[in-house]
Amino acid sequence: MNFSLRIFCVAVSLIVSLQTTSSLAQINVFVDWADFEARLNEATASAGVANFTAGEVVTIKSNVFNDITSHYGGFSLNFTETNPGGDYETIVFGLTTTGSGYGRADSIDFRNLLKTGTGRVFTANFDDFIESSDARSVQIAELSTSLAGTASHELGHNLGLQHFDAYGIASFSATDFNGGYTTGDAQNAHVMATGFTGLTESGREVYRTFSDLSGVKLHMAEGVSPNPITVTSEVGSSHSSAATAQHLDLTSVAFASEYDDAELLEGFFSGSDYYSVDLEAGDKILIEVLSEIIYSNDFDSLLRFYDTDGTTVMFENDDLEVNSSGVNNGGPYSMDAMLWNLPVDAAGRYFIEVDSFGSGDSGNYDMVVAVARFQAIPEPSAILFLSAVLGSAAMRRRRRSSSC
Ligand SMILES: [Zn+2]
Repeated sequence: MNFSLRIFCVAVSLIVSLQTTSSLAQINVFVDWADFEARLNEATASAGVANFTAGEVVTIKSNVFNDITSHYGGFSLNFTETNPGGDYETIVFGLTTTGSGYGRADSIDFRNLLKTGTGRVFTANFDDFIESSDARSVQIAELSTSLAGTASHELGHNLGLQHFDAYGIASFSATDFNGGYTTGDAQNAHVMATGFTGLTESGREVYRTFSDLSGVKLHMAEGVSPNPITVTSEVGSSHSSAATAQHLDLTSVAFASEYDDAELLEGFFSGSDYYSVDLEAGDKILIEVLSEIIYSNDFDSLLRFYDTDGTTVMFENDDLEVNSSGVNNGGPYSMDAMLWNLPVDAAGRYFIEVDSFGSGDSGNYDMVVAVARFQAIPEPSAILFLSAVLGSAAMRRRRRSSSC
């Protein structure tokens, strides 16, 4: 599965290794409409309906542009329909294709280290979303939403997002040893969903949003977030036990995610690497190792999450699995390890171990940690008490998702 993307990633990782990691203040995104109308006419011909009029084409372009900018609302991308010059990301709608796909990205450019990716939307194949029995207004609405969803999806890949990010929904709780959960199709409400996640034709015709995990990762992408989560480097000294664990100070996720705090770490595995993190009762923690999927040294990671004693394994995962019904329930996706929304029921310092499946492995990895903090809902009497005692003191509340 996803071998073509993996091949891209190998190529990209070689390029990435030569890049500096300087941040840019803002990324320009060129929305390129060249030859869009010609491709639209191919789609309408396939669908057996009249070509869209010039006025209808203007409406479709406007709808698509508005949806894309809405998907990325709250982030600092600058979308423009004229070539901005310099380095820029591109979404192009007018390319020809002989394949049956809807779109294609250059790479999964985690952290957006490249600044010049192209996301391709194969407009001519969108006849699937033009039903001749529908009213013209419905055809235009469904086509527009589908085009915009694919456009934001392909741009998402070029900014570092992956299909399984669609399952990163903070409200879900792990229900088995591996921390898997059944999503009940919730992943398909998100932009990074795709065919194998169960996204249907009708699902593509509905406006989708970025998942909570996608929101976190967009804050880790260079030049994308006004409040970026920056990279922490692995310490140089050995930290191969709980006693020597590197402590992770989580960064608040400013918005656009139901995860409250996150960490982005860059490391190199050559033996056990331990990290520690402070959690409160009721928190949920997501931990992901990205190695095989972004680097080329075939490090097959294994993740363990330890209780506060540093020795009791609470959860463990070797390979990331997702399919149309959920995560960690069959459907291998990557050798990379991932633990989803692990619950803890007591406050304390917990431990994460990055290990390898086989012995003697070594390799680069990035690690993403995202924590959804428990949000107590006071009983009415407690609210009265608190308001009396605290007056106007602000109570911390879970941030709502924006339309990212
Ligand atoms: Zn994709």
